[in-house]
Amino acid sequence: RLATSIRDLTKEYVLKSETVRALRGVSFDVPEGDYVAIMGPSGSGKSTLLNMLGCLDKPTAGSLCLGDDDISKMTDDQLADIRSQRIGFVFQSYNLIQQLSVVENIQVPLYYQGKLGPKERQRAIELATRVGLGDRLDHRPNQLSGGQQQRVAIARSLVNDPFFVLADEPTGNLDSITTDEILAIFDQLNEEGRTIILVTHEDDVALRAKRIVRLKDGMLHTDEPVAESDREA
Ligand code: ADP
Ligand code: ADP
Repeated sequence: RLATSIRDLTKEYVLKSETVRALRGVSFDVPEGDYVAIMGPSGSGKSTLLNMLGCLDKPTAGSLCLGDDDISKMTDDQLADIRSQRIGFVFQSYNLIQQLSVVENIQVPLYYQGKLGPKERQRAIELATRVGLGDRLDHRPNQLSGGQQQRVAIARSLVNDPFFVLADEPTGNLDSITTDEILAIFDQLNEEGRTIILVTHEDDVALRAKRIVRLKDGMLHTDEPVAESDREA
């Protein structure tokens, strides 16, 4: 796991009659072990930045390096490989496969690489146990609560030992008690050295991070550490 470095990141969408500049020269670094909350008003470029970080789309200009790999120089196939092998995704809507069990869902990113053996199953069981689902291994998503489904998604995001876990409004569908439980898992992962990049519009969620990056009009507005005394526990 290596540092992520973003330099002058620019993304333009060309529509019929105009060019939309969604990101206009954003720069910041995410060192290994950091915990960053990305905030900003609607239309400020958060989704666009997330798509770049998630290797779903390439910048128009500037660079985004995951360790030594500059994604702006990659082919679409290389991007797909990085995406499935080196990035952990956690979504607001969990994105689990209903026909698969907890353990099988956690193994999904490994299927893409043709890794289906007992070693992989064992790793999935260990991750399920770590997120508190050791007694739910064979359950299907519809037999789980929202919080439990999000735990499955978090375990799945870790199965490839990713550069970072990219979480997009991960508690957006959860009540406040379940939100606390899920955020406690992120806290624990971060304490163990995992890098976490989380997009949220909720202040109390962002205050769990070590640092808040705010976008405005496609630019970096502020990039500030969260004071230890302000960090929500
Ligand atoms: P946020 O996630 O902060 O709401 P977005 O990244 O979705 O912001 O959008 C930033 C700007 O880019 C907005 O003006 C939006 O309309 C525009 N935009 C986003 N995606 C596209 C797209 N696929 N095509 C054209 N314009 C887009
Ligand atoms: P494609 O089939 O177009 O190459 P992917 O299969 O890589 O797309 O991704 C499909 C969806 O799954 C995307 O929304 C992507 O963000 C998500 N995704 C990709 N890789 C993973 C992963 N390792 N874990 C969870 N979700 C992923």
